[in-house]
Amino acid sequence: MNVKNFVIIGGGIAGLAAIKAIREVNTSSSILWVSDEDRMPYKRTKINKHIATGFSKDEFALTDHHWLMENHIELLYDTAETINTQKHELTFKHRGTLIYNKLIIASGKIPRLLNIDGLPAEKVHQVHTARQVENIIRSTVKSKKYLVIGAGVEGVETAEQLVKLGKEVILVERNSMVLKRFFTPKFANLMKKTIEKAGVHLLLDIKKIAYNESESGESLIWIDGQEHKIDTIISSIGYIPNTKLAKNADIKCNVGIMVNDYLETSAPDVYAAGDAAEHPLGQITGLWHAAEHQGHLAGLNACGKQLKLELKPFRMKTEVFGEYYFSVLPSSNNLTLIEEKVGDIVRDMYFKDDKIEALLMKNDGDRAKDYQQALMEKWSLAKIRKEIPL
Ligand SMILES: Cc1cc2nc3c(=O)[nH]c(=O)nc-3n(C[C@H](O)[C@H](O)[C@H](O)COP(=O)(O)OP(=O)(O)OC[C@H]3O[C@@H](n4cnc5c(N)ncnc54)[C@H](O)[C@@H]3O)c2cc1C
Repeated sequence: MNVKNFVIIGGGIAGLAAIKAIREVNTSSSILWVSDEDRMPYKRTKINKHIATGFSKDEFALTDHHWLMENHIELLYDTAETINTQKHELTFKHRGTLIYNKLIIASGKIPRLLNIDGLPAEKVHQVHTARQVENIIRSTVKSKKYLVIGAGVEGVETAEQLVKLGKEVILVERNSMVLKRFFTPKFANLMKKTIEKAGVHLLLDIKKIAYNESESGESLIWIDGQEHKIDTIISSIGYIPNTKLAKNADIKCNVGIMVNDYLETSAPDVYAAGDAAEHPLGQITGLWHAAEHQGHLAGLNACGKQLKLELKPFRMKTEVFGEYYFSVLPSSNNLTLIEEKVGDIVRDMYFKDDKIEALLMKNDGDRAKDYQQALMEKWSLAKIRKEIPL
């Protein structure tokens, strides 16, 4: 049977970072990279931010065929369906079965399913893959009125793009604040004002959404009892780690695929990294740079290193409606908060023993890298005021 030294499942940034790490230390072993999407692996963070401009098929590609050939990497467009962890066997939907020496699962996350009585799945758009976003772009030719469900970061960014195209947008959220995963109530409120000022009809604290179809085929949506005629519905209600393959193989999963500090799963020679992985204290990172960092480490460890993952404070940043937001949320209540505001720049900094632990900032995007460095190196308040003065 065909044997591969390394098989990487998932054509995302964690998968690519793992491959690059393997090639840093090992130039000759065979590497198979598996992607179940319809194009060269691409920068997922870009897709929903380019609804207004559109994009070509490989515009956001992370690499190209030339690089793959030069580095002797085989890219297979297929779905990995089963793993026999005892025999180190992997079976694909189309390609058959092969033997792996080391396997890295970087299967990402999948969108939570929207469950509204009577609403057919084919009427609900998502922004998880480039193909799905292309469908939304196509819808903009005819649709005028959009409902975006979920005011997390992807939902807000999607609403912004539709407003840029002159669409009428209702953005609904069941929580009482936007970007609940990344913001404090103060920053959620700042962004709420940004969103409303841009003309989005933002509805928070929504308890019930109901659906019906008019005789002429229009979508009628009741949001907490209020009727709206909607042309296109987009769901952005969050994600869950894609554990399907791992679970079927009896690899230990909780919410995500459980890994130890070395990104090893419960199965021998099988690693997991990126959005699919759940770390020892239950953390699931869900951010681009965190996935890249984990993929890199998983690749090196699969080559025999024993490098321990330390979860760094990776930031969320987003630029919507002309405003820039940055967040690394405090992880405990025992931090000292310093609030500063000069002009339209707002920054809330959280310290423990005069070392910065968390930070939220608005409208200081040009210095985002400095803030990231301050967080990574845990700068003192005095150093921040000296190096990043307001
Ligand atoms: C619209 C959008 C905007 C975002 N914006 C930001 C942002 O601004 N900043 C930020 O930090 N993060 C952002 N994120 C999150 C970021 O994109 C993810 O954290 C990152 O892409 C995770 O990388 P990954 O490699 O773990 O997984 P993914 O990028 O999800 O890649 C996993 C890949 O594996 C494939 N796969 C799964 N199972 C199989 C299988 N069995 N066989 C073959 N292939 C399989 C999937 O189809 C997918 O292509 C955004 C996410 C989305 C959806």
